[in-house]
Amino acid sequence: MSDTWNKRTKAVHAGIRRSQYNEVSEAIYMTQGFVYDTAEAAEARFIEAGEDEFIYARYGNPTIAMFEDRIAALEGAEAGFATASGMAAVNGALTSMLKAGDHVVSARALFGSCLYILEDVLSRYGVEVTFVDGTDLGAWDAAIRPDTKAVFFESVSNPTLEVIDIKAVSALAHAVDATVIIDNVFATPVYSDAIAQGADVVVYSATKHIDGQGRALGGVILGTQEFIRKTVEPYMKHTGGSMSPFTAWMMLKGLETIDLRVRAQTASAQAIAEGLHADGKLAQVIYPGLPSHPQHALTKAQMGAGGTVLAIDAGSQAAAFKLLNTLEIVTISNNLGDAKSIATHPATTTHQRLSDETKAALGITPGLIRISVGLEDTDDLLGDLRAAIG
Ligand SMILES: *Cc1c(COP(=O)(O)O)cnc(C)c1O
Repeated sequence: MSDTWNKRTKAVHAGIRRSQYNEVSEAIYMTQGFVYDTAEAAEARFIEAGEDEFIYARYGNPTIAMFEDRIAALEGAEAGFATASGMAAVNGALTSMLKAGDHVVSARALFGSCLYILEDVLSRYGVEVTFVDGTDLGAWDAAIRPDTKAVFFESVSNPTLEVIDIKAVSALAHAVDATVIIDNVFATPVYSDAIAQGADVVVYSATKHIDGQGRALGGVILGTQEFIRKTVEPYMKHTGGSMSPFTAWMMLKGLETIDLRVRAQTASAQAIAEGLHADGKLAQVIYPGLPSHPQHALTKAQMGAGGTVLAIDAGSQAAAFKLLNTLEIVTISNNLGDAKSIATHPATTTHQRLSDETKAALGITPGLIRISVGLEDTDDLLGDLRAAIG
């Protein structure tokens, strides 16, 4: 692979390892283990495994290595570790580097399971977490202390689509040598430049746009060679959250088409957001690509486009449920980044666990519907939504 390749080329070719048969499509190595020629060779490999030497699939496997190298190249990261799910990646990135007594600053607007790790899990092990409004740089500045070990945020929050300034928050964190860990799902690898903008560690749920067709759970942690090999890998390989080789193969195939899919889904999301906003029938149309979005300028500078997800507010839970039940093309489910358009009612599903006060503070209103725009015809989708909105 050449470093001068553009993202689309890397997404198709980076990381490939061909067997003696020179197959075109990546081989699936469905094996948990590997055979050593001699006892001495086994001993040597356990002391230090070389670049293309594998021991056990929980540690690594050729198909998984292809996926890790491809997504790392696409993201501009030195290395990656593939995980069984996005949550295994979020948990692995945080837990592998933190210990009792450490301090973390996190944005408050988080995916429910991310909030569970930061709020419930880490505190049980003596890690102190301060939550801030991620869009308020003054709040980050006030919360980050000389002893802060890490900052964590979703660069675009789920489901209210707040966009957080990666460059500015990273500068504040780096002033005290804190590690910047970003859950970058909504930005997608296509619109991400997070590492160049200051992130130290980028985490993806591969379940979303990387697979992009709703088939499998997966995740990946990306960072420096030092962080991945010395901090993440020992933790992940011994605690068991590794990706399966078959999943890695699906994710490799997903990466080959991710640029086309995400750009088409984003163009559709932009047109739908503009159409619904112009109709003026909804209490709110939230989309980072709309000039009315509070971080519209930041979105353009940081990502270049608004992404594949928008949120609308139907006004009440009853109106939201009626709207959802009237949709014919857009399906009711809770994945996102899928080829199929999906509508979610966060207050009663993905974010049900949160108290009413927390929901209100995060803008998760009873009428809020998150819409992940898929690959269907844009006019069909807009027609389906307009008919349901009435
Ligand atoms: C879906 C999601 C996750 C979790 O990923 P899984 O693959 O479902 O475990 C984490 N963060 C964000 C922002 C997500 O959207």
